[in-house]
Amino acid sequence: MLSGYAEALKHALIKDVTYWEQLENGMLSDAKNWIKLITSSIHIKNDIVLNDPFEKDERKLLNFGHTIGHAIESYSLKNDEIPLCHGEAVAIGMICESYISTKQQGLSEVDLESIASTITSFYNSYRLKEVDFHQLIELMKNDKKNENNGIIFTLLSKIGTAHFNQEVEVELILDGLNYYNSLIGDKVVN
Ligand SMILES: [Zn+2]
Repeated sequence: MLSGYAEALKHALIKDVTYWEQLENGMLSDAKNWIKLITSSIHIKNDIVLNDPFEKDERKLLNFGHTIGHAIESYSLKNDEIPLCHGEAVAIGMICESYISTKQQGLSEVDLESIASTITSFYNSYRLKEVDFHQLIELMKNDKKNENNGIIFTLLSKIGTAHFNQEVEVELILDGLNYYNSLIGDKVVN
């Protein structure tokens, strides 16, 4: 369910601000709303996939949160006794990538705050160990989505509007990881 939540949050962030407002206002926490919410997600994903069946362009929007998220997921699988599930890792990835979006794509601080507080309210905190940041960066570099040498992201300019094929410098990615750690403070040690 946590993995499914993360994908629903992602669909709203990349395509539909109204859907995001429903999720932000806790509609997910009540099971009777799920059919309606899942329907919104299916429509968004279906439209994107039908428009771009071979992942040439628009479908890359669905990678939001996943460049960092996949790296965290692989890292956790290798290092943790109880690894994070896909959605838990993507949830962290979406926070980091939203931070990067404020620095590189014009996402507002207000939107970042809304994304960070909504996601942290759903998911447990997971400290990203600074000594292992280089491992995470290596995992991102190996990601299939990358072209040339850069690390390629889908970023947000506002909630509901995303842009694919955005190349991000390693320094800013590290800032994104640190931003997530600063949000969770000392709440959890994993
Ligand atoms: Zn996913």
